[in-house]
Amino acid sequence: MRKKVLIIGGVAGGASTAARIRRLDEQAEIVMFEKGPHVSFSNCSLPYYLSGIVETSDELVLLSPEMFKKRYNIEARVNHEVIKINRNEKSVTVKNLLDDETYEEEYDKLVISTGAEPIRPNIEGVDQDHVFTIRNVGDIENLHTYLRQQAVEHVAVVGGGFIGVEVAENLQLAGYDVSLVEFAKQIMMPFDFDMAQILHKEMLNHGVNLIVDDGLAKIREDAIETNSGRKITAEAVVLAIGVRPETTLAEEAGLDIGETGGIRVDANYRTSDPDIYAVGDAIEVYHRLTHKPTRPALAGPAQKQARAAADHMYGIPNRNRGVIGSSSIKLFDLYAASTGLNARTAEQAGINYDSVYVMPSDKVGLMPDSHPLHFKLVYEVPTGKILGAQAIGKGNVDKRVDVIAAMISMDATLEDLKDLELSYSPMLGTAKDVVNQAALVALNQLHGRYKEVKVSEVRALVEQNAFIIDAREKKEYGAGHLKNAVNIPLSEFRERLDEIPKDKPVYIHCRSGQRSYNMVMALENLGYRNVYNISGSYLGICLYEYFQDVTTGREKIVTEYNFN
Ligand code: FAD
Repeated sequence: MRKKVLIIGGVAGGASTAARIRRLDEQAEIVMFEKGPHVSFSNCSLPYYLSGIVETSDELVLLSPEMFKKRYNIEARVNHEVIKINRNEKSVTVKNLLDDETYEEEYDKLVISTGAEPIRPNIEGVDQDHVFTIRNVGDIENLHTYLRQQAVEHVAVVGGGFIGVEVAENLQLAGYDVSLVEFAKQIMMPFDFDMAQILHKEMLNHGVNLIVDDGLAKIREDAIETNSGRKITAEAVVLAIGVRPETTLAEEAGLDIGETGGIRVDANYRTSDPDIYAVGDAIEVYHRLTHKPTRPALAGPAQKQARAAADHMYGIPNRNRGVIGSSSIKLFDLYAASTGLNARTAEQAGINYDSVYVMPSDKVGLMPDSHPLHFKLVYEVPTGKILGAQAIGKGNVDKRVDVIAAMISMDATLEDLKDLELSYSPMLGTAKDVVNQAALVALNQLHGRYKEVKVSEVRALVEQNAFIIDAREKKEYGAGHLKNAVNIPLSEFRERLDEIPKDKPVYIHCRSGQRSYNMVMALENLGYRNVYNISGSYLGICLYEYFQDVTTGREKIVTEYNFN
C-alpha cells in the first residue's frame, strides 16, 4: 500500500527526512509543512549575509518548493503551519497562513522536525522594533534591512554562544560598532575557561566590545543596560541567549517530553506514539559520555537523525550510540573546534578526569603559515579513555578535533592516540601530530612520570612567590617574563643545577612548553620530585591573562605580554 508521510518543519531535519524517504520509496506520498516562506535553507550560513560573505539572501535558500516537487516529487507547502496533531484520527490540522484557511491531512507516519525557537527574555523593552532574533532567512533579512535603513552604527549582541559570536563577528566585519554581552564568565561554553580567553582576546583585537559576567537588564531605544549598571549604546539589539525546543504540538498531543524539555524519543527517533517520529532541535537525545539526556542543537545530528528515522520506517535498523557534541567556529583570524567533554562538563558529570594543554606548531615551523595550535585534551583517570578535545589556532583545528571525535566514538584511549598513524607532509602538519603529542604528554601525566600545573594556577603561584624557572633564552626573557621568574635556559640548566632547589616545588615554563617539558623530564631523572611543567607556558600564560587584565584593570603578572 502507498505510504503517506507528513513532515512538520521543512529545514535541516524535515527536508533531510523527506529526501531520504524518497530515496527509499518512490511510491510514498510525502508532504512537508513549513510555516515560514522557505524550506531547505542554510541556517548555519545566515550570519554571513550580514558581512556580505553571502552576497544575497536568495543564496541562503538551497531548494525551492518547486524544485522539491520536480526533483524529488515531494510536496513542500510553505506558509502552512501545523496547529494540531490528532493522534486518534492519525491526522494533522493545518493552517494556510496566507488565507487563514484550515484543513485536515491524514498520515500513516508523521515526523516532527519543528526545531527550536530563540528565547526572548521577559525584560523591559524586549518588544521594540529594533530588537531581533535570528532563526531564518526572514529574520536575517529584517535585521540587515533595518541596520541600513535606520543608518545604525552601534549594535549590541546579547549571548556569547555560536549564533551570538558569529553575528557579532559578521556585524563587526560589516563595519558596525559591536558590543557582545555574555552573562557567563566566558563566551563559547563548549570551551573551557582557559581556552575561551584566547577567543576573548581575538574579539578585543578586532574591536568587539566584549563584556562577560554581566547580563542584559533593560533595552532602551538607543542603548541597553546590564545587570551591573553599564549603559551600552545600541540602536539595534540582537538576542542570541539560547533556544527553546518547539514542543507545543507534541505536548498538546500528549507525547512524552523528556527531562531537558525536548521531545522524548527511542533509539530510532520514535516518540511515545509509534507512528510519530521526531528529530532535530526539538528532541532530546542520549549523551554517549555523560549517559544523560542532552539537546545538542546542531545541524549534523539533526540530519543523521532524519536519515535514521526514515530508515526505521522502512525496516532498516539504526545503531544509536548517542551523541558526543562536536562543533567548530571561525572567529576573525582564528578557527576553533571542540568535541566531547571539556574539563567543566566532565567535572559536572562526576567523571574522574585530567587534561593537558599543549601548543605545538600546526605544521613544520620552516613552512609558510606555520602557527601554534592550542590543543587541550581531556581524558578519564585512571583508564586514559579519551573524553574530549578543544583546539584553537589559525590552521587546521577541525582536522585535529575530528580525529579525537573519531577516537571517542571508538572508545579509544591515550595509548591508541599516541600511536595513531596520521598523514604527514611539512606543509600540512608535523611528523608527530599535535594529537599524538598531546597523548604522549597525557600518558606521562597519567603514569606519574610528569606533573603539570594549569595555566589558570600561575597567577596564584606568582602571588605566592613560588620558585618559577623561565627556561627560554635570555633574549626572550628580556622581552617579557613572569614578574618573579628566574631565567635558567634549557641550554644552561645542567651547569646551574645548584640554583634549583630540591626542597620545594619548582615550576617551569618556556614559550610553548617543549623546552620546559624537556627540563622537567631531565630534572625528574636527576632525582627532583617536586618539578612541575606550567601548561600553556609563556604564550599560554599571556593569552590566559590578557583579556582579564585589560577588562578588569588588575595588576599584570608579566612584565610584558608576548604573543609571538
Ligand atoms: P530547523 O532547521 O530550525 O527547522 C525547523 C522548521 O520547522 C523551522 O523552519 C520552523 O519554521 C518549522 N516549524 C516549526 N513549527 C512548525 C509548525 N507547527 N508547522 C510548520 N512548520 C513549523 N548548527 C551547526 O551544526 N553548525 C553551525 O554552524 C550552525 N550555525 C547556526 C547558525 C544559526 C544562525 C542558526 C539559527 C542555527 C545554526 N545551527 C548550526 C543549528 C542548526 O541550524 C540546527 O541545529 C538545525 O537546523 C536543526 O534542524 P531542525 O530541523 O530541528 O530545525
